[in-house]
Amino acid sequence: MRISEIFYPSSLNELLELAASNPGIKLLAGGTELAGRQTSRALEFPEQIVSIARIPELRKTARSEQYVEVGSATTLSGLLSLSSGALPFPLPAAIHTIANGAVRNAATLGGNLCCKWRFMDLWPFLTCLDAQIELRSRHVSRWANLGHLCDEKGLPSVPNGAILTRVRIPVHEHNFVFQKKIGNSRFPSPETASFVCIADIDQNKIGTFKLIFAGEKALRNKDIENSLIGRRIPLTQKESQQVIEAYSEAFEKLTGHKSFQLDALVEESLSRLVPL
Ligand SMILES: Cc1cc2nc3c(=O)[nH]c(=O)nc-3n(C[C@H](O)[C@H](O)[C@H](O)COP(=O)(O)OP(=O)(O)OC[C@H]3O[C@@H](n4cnc5c(N)ncnc54)[C@H](O)[C@@H]3O)c2cc1C
Repeated sequence: MRISEIFYPSSLNELLELAASNPGIKLLAGGTELAGRQTSRALEFPEQIVSIARIPELRKTARSEQYVEVGSATTLSGLLSLSSGALPFPLPAAIHTIANGAVRNAATLGGNLCCKWRFMDLWPFLTCLDAQIELRSRHVSRWANLGHLCDEKGLPSVPNGAILTRVRIPVHEHNFVFQKKIGNSRFPSPETASFVCIADIDQNKIGTFKLIFAGEKALRNKDIENSLIGRRIPLTQKESQQVIEAYSEAFEKLTGHKSFQLDALVEESLSRLVPL
C-alpha cells in the first residue's frame, strides 16, 4: 500500500505557493473522478495530494449583468442551489443529468472541466456558452476561453501546473439549445459522449451557431459553424445534407472512424432549427 501525503491549504495563496514548490502535486477537488475511475477496493492516490475543496476563494460566487462567476471548487449541487435564473437555461437541467445527488454534492465544476483523459459533460456545454476560465500559478494569472482546455488533436489539455480558479458563465439566453448524452449509463465509459448544439435565431436566420461533440476527443469545427451564419431556416434538404457530411468528414479526420450517432444528432439538431 502506498502512503500519500495530503496537504490542506487554507487560502489560494497558500495553494499557489505549495503547487509552485511541489510541481508534481495532484489537485484533488471532490475526488469523484479520481476515485470513480478505480476498480479495486483499496484506492490508490498519487504520492502528494493537495485538497482544494475547502479553499474559500475557490467557492465564491459573484454576478454581473453579463455573467455569473463561480469558484472552481463550487460543487455541482452548489451550482444547482444558486437562485433560479442565475444560470442560463438549460444548464441546471444538464447538471442534473450528471451522476446522482450524492456524487453531485462532492463533485466540483473545476474537476468536471479539468479531467485530463476525456471531456466530462460540462466542458462542451460551457464552451458552447462561451464560458471563460481563470488559470493561476504562483506568478501568472490569466483569463482564457474554456475552449483553450482542448488541443488541436481534440484532446483535453489542462496546462501543467495551472490551477483553474474561476469560471465566468455568460447569462445570455440562446433561443435554440439541443443537448444529448449518448452511450450507456456507466458514465464516463469510452462509449459515452455529450452532444451540444446552441444557436441564436433572429428573423428566421441563423445568428450564431455552435456545435460540439465531446467524449474522449472533442469535435468543434468553426468553419462549418461560420458557414451556417446568416442562412435562412428551415435549411433545405440539400443544405442539411452538406452540413451533416461536413461534420461526418471532420469527425473521421479527428478520430479515424465514422460516428453514425454524430450524423444522426447533427441531422436531428438541424431539423429542429425551425422559425420561432
Ligand atoms: C458514479 C459516477 C458517475 C459520474 N457521472 C458523470 C456524468 O454523468 N457526467 C460527468 O460529466 N461526469 C460524471 N462523473 C465524473 C465526475 O464525478 C465529475 O466529472 C465531477 O464533476 C468531477 O469533479 P471532482 O471535483 O470530483 O474532480 P476530481 O476527481 O477532484 O478531479 C478531477 C481532475 O481534475 C483536476 N482538477 C480538479 N480541480 C481542478 C482545478 N481547480 N484546477 C486544475 N485541475 C483540477 C484533478 O487534479 C483531476 O485530475 C461521474 C463520476 C462517478 C463516480
